[in-house]
Amino acid sequence: MYSEILEIKDIYNKYKNELSYIPFREVNNFKIDNSVKQLGRCCVNNEEITIGISRLLFKDDQELKNTILHEMIHTIVGCCNHGMLWKQYATIVTKATGHEITRTGCVSSIIKKEMVGKAKYIVTCDKCNRKIYRYKKSKLVTESYYYLCECGGSFTVEEN
Ligand SMILES: [Zn+2]
Ligand SMILES: [Zn+2]
Repeated sequence: MYSEILEIKDIYNKYKNELSYIPFREVNNFKIDNSVKQLGRCCVNNEEITIGISRLLFKDDQELKNTILHEMIHTIVGCCNHGMLWKQYATIVTKATGHEITRTGCVSSIIKKEMVGKAKYIVTCDKCNRKIYRYKKSKLVTESYYYLCECGGSFTVEEN
């Protein structure tokens, strides 16, 4: 827990120095939680600023940095929502760091990675390359030759 907080602080300090021309405000507290739905949050309360980061993000360095930058933009005066000003800064930060800062950011991709990790079987369409994750031996896994993808392709099953 302690080292995770330090990791967040390091990333925050690094970008605060590198992007010193952007008026990020000082963050007072960093927190880590186990949220799955909301991977990052930024609360401003009587001039106290807290950034919260989900533990899930520590599996992926890029996603962690993206989310910290995303939350840092919320600390700028007038950027508490994802309005015009927030978007302008997101564009500046994306250009300066190469990290693509989006409004919803990384939620879906992280959860997808979790799913892939837990799936026992991966069923892949030979034509469109769509992947379906299965956690048990379902009919799609055992009798995949009976099924066709929406695109008309047939499936290949792999154990994960
Ligand atoms: Zn946001
Ligand atoms: Zn397909």
